[in-house]
Amino acid sequence: MTNKLKYFVGNWKMFGSFSSLKNIYRIHRFCVKFNKARKKNKIILCVPNTLIYFFTKKFRSKIISIGAQNCHHHQTKGSFTGSVNAKMLKNVGAKYIILGHSESRHEGDTNQLIKKKIKSALNQQLYVIFCIGETYSEKIRKKTFSVLKNQLKSSMDKKINLNNIIIAYEPVWSIGTGKIPKIDSLRNIFRFIKNEFKKNLKTKTSPPVLYGGSVNDKNITKFTSILEIDGFLIGGASRSSKKFIDIIKNYYK
Ligand code: PEP
Repeated sequence: MTNKLKYFVGNWKMFGSFSSLKNIYRIHRFCVKFNKARKKNKIILCVPNTLIYFFTKKFRSKIISIGAQNCHHHQTKGSFTGSVNAKMLKNVGAKYIILGHSESRHEGDTNQLIKKKIKSALNQQLYVIFCIGETYSEKIRKKTFSVLKNQLKSSMDKKINLNNIIIAYEPVWSIGTGKIPKIDSLRNIFRFIKNEFKKNLKTKTSPPVLYGGSVNDKNITKFTSILEIDGFLIGGASRSSKKFIDIIKNYYK
């Protein structure tokens, strides 16, 4: 286990209400104590847009930040019914944003569209959690590396602000299914992503790379041997403060 900062990111999806503030307080109370005694952890909760302003006004913390889950690619105002852009999310207090999530790709987000969204979020100084990952059919056709390579290459501008990017490797077949990749293959994938990023953007360092897909308080211990994992993007289990806290606790056991 290294001493490096670890990210635990919750993706609440289309769940949560004003009363979920109590979950955030619980996580915060735990982290204040835990971070003092143990490692440094950064907690990011990506919540529905309707809750961002409420949470960020009620709650200020260096340990927990609030993020959004997607945005429209247009940088300025416009006739886009039902849409919200990165600037609007920034204005209501979001610090982070998930982009390229497989559920958003499923709704029509292409690599080209995601590229525009990343650009517009970075222009607003939001931190981008950029999701990549192969589908089950791509995995069995042994296309994982070429899919990841293409997603990285076609969605990221060479001139982006590297300090504001976090990558999340989320195999689509693992999201919400209870299935996780084999540890050896995951280690290779993490090495590949980090090398590929450095190659594409001609940099010596890679941004943090997180793992996401069916992470829970039981299987989290399986990931501890992969030093290349800089943290986790957690969907279902992040909606319960107890499960979320147990994931962090068990990671360090
Ligand atoms: C996600 O939606 O980003 C995710 C990882 O979901 P789950 O943890 O439920 O698989």
